[in-house]
Amino acid sequence: MLLGFRTKLKLNNQQKTIMARHAGYSRWVFNWGLKAWSITYQAGLKPTANKLKKFYTNYVKPDYPWQSQLSSRVYQYAFVDLDKAFQRFFKIKGTGYPKFKKKGINDSFTLDNCGKWIELGSARIKLPFIGTVSTYEALPHCQVKKVTLTRVGKDWVISFAYEQERPIPEKKMARVGVDLGIISLATLSNGEVFPNLKPYRKASLKLSRLQRNLSRKVQGSKNSQKQRIKLASQHEKVANLRRDYLHKITSYLAKKFSNIVIEDLNVKGMLANRKLAKAISELGLYEFRRQLEYKCKLYGSKLTIVDRWFPSSKTCSSCGSIKTDLSLSERIYRCECGLEIDRDLNAAKVLANQAVGYTVLACGQSAADGSG
Ligand SMILES: [Zn+2]
Repeated sequence: MLLGFRTKLKLNNQQKTIMARHAGYSRWVFNWGLKAWSITYQAGLKPTANKLKKFYTNYVKPDYPWQSQLSSRVYQYAFVDLDKAFQRFFKIKGTGYPKFKKKGINDSFTLDNCGKWIELGSARIKLPFIGTVSTYEALPHCQVKKVTLTRVGKDWVISFAYEQERPIPEKKMARVGVDLGIISLATLSNGEVFPNLKPYRKASLKLSRLQRNLSRKVQGSKNSQKQRIKLASQHEKVANLRRDYLHKITSYLAKKFSNIVIEDLNVKGMLANRKLAKAISELGLYEFRRQLEYKCKLYGSKLTIVDRWFPSSKTCSSCGSIKTDLSLSERIYRCECGLEIDRDLNAAKVLANQAVGYTVLACGQSAADGSG
């Protein structure tokens, strides 16, 4: 199934300028092609977009050195656009003769990676020639051959078509409870554990070291400037490691299970505890939830969010009785019924059992998989 995706880009001024230059390049070439088409046609020749492109590449482009500073893919696609415009004119009744493009109206251009895939999946995209740009939301995990950049008002949006991976329903396990925590990032009711990442912890330690160093440096000095750059790139490194790891977990969950049960984040309660709030934002639990929501839609899984007041960690997953005294430091849940179990695993199992009754349905079913 081919799906379309379109989202706004987060760009700095330099990136906006390079976008505008490429859109201008695309428009310039399209308009050159349109004019050349009319002239050659009137001269009794049979123009095609391909013939014009060859002529352009060999005899026109070399006269405009500014064009060699921009991605050559852009002008290739300008001729593809020209061809499409004429095909529409020839084949679809009522379509007018192609018009010249005007600056500021539908400014856009298309890029590809010279036949290689462009990998997508996070909120960052490495665009050929232009470099890495960010988006406000994560992109679906996929590979595409080309992307189109379009100006919408003051912003630029990226759009592309991608092939949706179809879930394999018979491979899916029915239901899983997921306990999100600080010691283990995610504990699944089937006993699987996603620990906090070691390289991430290492990178975080380095980050705090850099932060300490910077605070010791004289403000505005050359050294502090250098340190600041180091710090920024380390921030980026840590954020990327975390995001990639979260993507790995959320993809695994959404692909493998047909119903995923998580607890709503107790925002107020967590923010009241500053230490806990810091840990939660560092672990990216909000990001986890956000990724899980869109991937459940993508893979046709149901996401159930249990009320935040439901005492998942205090309830016994075996007999259902509720403990009133369970401190955060107790890692083993012990019940009068004889159950002795890892605290997080117990909570995950309780969540899996409580999937009905306490639930808020967060995701609709995708067309790809009707199972629930
Ligand atoms: Zn019990």
